[in-house]
Amino acid sequence: MTSTPRVEGSLSRPCMKCRVQEATLDSRSQPVCRDCFAKFIAAKCIKQTGILGKETRLPLPTTGGPPTGTRHYMVGLSLGVSSTVLLHLLSENIEFQLARGRNAPFDLTVVHIDTTTTTTVTTPSPAVEEALTRYRTRYPRFTFHRTPLSSTTPTPSTATPTPLPTAASRSDVTRQLTRRALLEQARARGCQALLLGHSTTALAELTLAEAAKGRGFALPWLVKDGVAPVGGKRKGLGGGGGEGRENGDGGRNEDGEEEEEAGKGVLVYHPLRDALRKELVIYAGLVEPPLTDLVWETKDDAAAAVVSHKDLSIEEVMGRYFAEVEESYPSVVANVARTTGKLVRAGEGEAGGEWCGLCGMPLDEDGDERWRGELGIQERSDTGTGRLCYGCERSTAG
Ligand SMILES: [Zn+2]
Ligand SMILES: [Zn+2]
Repeated sequence: MTSTPRVEGSLSRPCMKCRVQEATLDSRSQPVCRDCFAKFIAAKCIKQTGILGKETRLPLPTTGGPPTGTRHYMVGLSLGVSSTVLLHLLSENIEFQLARGRNAPFDLTVVHIDTTTTTTVTTPSPAVEEALTRYRTRYPRFTFHRTPLSSTTPTPSTATPTPLPTAASRSDVTRQLTRRALLEQARARGCQALLLGHSTTALAELTLAEAAKGRGFALPWLVKDGVAPVGGKRKGLGGGGGEGRENGDGGRNEDGEEEEEAGKGVLVYHPLRDALRKELVIYAGLVEPPLTDLVWETKDDAAAAVVSHKDLSIEEVMGRYFAEVEESYPSVVANVARTTGKLVRAGEGEAGGEWCGLCGMPLDEDGDERWRGELGIQERSDTGTGRLCYGCERSTAG
């Protein structure tokens, strides 16, 4: 992205930042050139990965001297625009450092959770494989893995014979399991952090959608950066294991070990949290060759083809709503995400809580009971996955 600098006076609409190139874009009500826009987006990502870098300091060698080794992060790649932009920016950051003779600031493993394979359809979709081949060719430095969603923790769809009632509940359960599968992959692969491509817009949508679905309690874990619980490893979830909490001090050694395992979370970061979705879409088109060549568009096409509002999931409704708000009132979008960022994680730092057997988020004992009572939800059924939060119970109720 180079163009010949010109004198400001000869420009019809100079870039507000560099003042030497013609402005071809509007960024937060300022006319800017392509280069300055690309730098603006990259700076947002670099700032957040810098914060993460401090959180994941490398241990000093016992023999003295500077730390050796490399930070190792995992990127959750949905094959959509945002996670592709994240991958590209992280790749550029590494190439920039290497070109200056420095060490790579981190190493990346990229994981795509394949939701096209189910217990009945086990052959990987050729479209997913083709897409991953494109990414591997473009970013040969990184390793890419495809993990079928069905290979993760037992799910209500595999544990119970009844299929999920609606398209909306299927999409909700798929989302929860995808997130959980990413967390489990990050832990299994020994990555220091899981990086997700959520934009400001995506975080705002997530906030309102999860609150609407009854997971308001889990929002601080979903939207803020920090350690997310990986709730899948607890034993005795369905067999009255929760009673152990009444022993008081945390008691027996065998329980202590179990709780330690359950309390071990994964650091989750959203390096693009300060960029709007429309900005990421513009960025994807500016890169040479465009990142839009890589992206797998099937999911968006499917959403656009929906005719009846009855078939829209809450995420789709929020997506359409924020697409409009983002256009005219970007600060509103930023405020939703920022306000949620100030919420406190209840019981943070304690490993004594219980986690939902499906989405893996902490259970809100009182809150979930209250929701259940007011909405007339019946006693929880044992799905073989342990206790569920209100949101997951509603999605899986037949
Ligand atoms: Zn400029
Ligand atoms: Zn849940």
